[in-house]
Amino acid sequence: MSRVAIVTGGTRGIGEAISIMLKEKGYQVAANYGGNDERAQEFSKRTGIPVYKWDVSDYKACEEGVAKVKEDLGPVEILVNNAGITRDGTLHRMDQESWQKVIDTDLGSCFNMCRAVIEDMRAAKFGRVVNIGSINGQAGQYGQVNYAAAKSGIHGFTKAMAQEGAAQGITVNAIAPGYIDTDMVAAVPPQVLEKIVAKIPVGRLGKASEIARGVCFLVADDGGFITGSTLSINGGQHMY
Ligand code: NDP
Repeated sequence: MSRVAIVTGGTRGIGEAISIMLKEKGYQVAANYGGNDERAQEFSKRTGIPVYKWDVSDYKACEEGVAKVKEDLGPVEILVNNAGITRDGTLHRMDQESWQKVIDTDLGSCFNMCRAVIEDMRAAKFGRVVNIGSINGQAGQYGQVNYAAAKSGIHGFTKAMAQEGAAQGITVNAIAPGYIDTDMVAAVPPQVLEKIVAKIPVGRLGKASEIARGVCFLVADDGGFITGSTLSINGGQHMY
């Protein structure tokens, strides 16, 4: 029986590419999403991947969502924490709601989802967790104190959980994408985007499939010695 994978935010953008590539590699994929039913249904019809709606910032909803996936497909052995949002604005204009919403959705979700799958991974003595961070969590970004804080938190979360999972066959890694051509980046004003692309040595935005490749590499059965690492996939924009 093939391994069961959950991809949060798995119906659009980077998550969509991850869901599709994991399915192509033979995993049983459950794609979670937050609210866009139309896109989720269209995705499911096109790919044959089942979709599950719940809010990853809600602890109880994650518990229930994971239980439903387990009932339908079996215990979850692979978790890709990909769902994320932005609510940009400079600190002096940012309201508390925009701060909290991004922290809860982008970082709180990692706790909520990992907590919901960890017991089964420990029992199986196997697990693969990939958390999607961001170049802006590594380098910071003007107008994104909330997003940069959440994404940089993901990198600390990853390293701590990796230490806890190591002896149980559970690997935990992060991917820090650079600017990828998705709806999220389409929301960046064109004049700002032009300046960003000018700073990418490869000379273009990344493709969602280029992040999916990284995920497939990290979740493979023979990836047991790769844990606590961050894979930067950013066209050479930020190297450290
Ligand atoms: P998109 O905005 O294109 O897609 C976001 C996905 O997350 C959607 O499927 C959305 O569901 C889901 N989602 C959002 N909020 C929730 C929630 N509360 N509960 C469940 N699902 C939710 O984003 P991208 O594909 O661009 O980004 C994917 C990840 O990669 C994010 O974590 C992002 O921060 C990160 N990233 C993206 C970069 C980029 O350049 N695009 C760069 C660096 C990091 P729905 O369709 O229902 O709205």
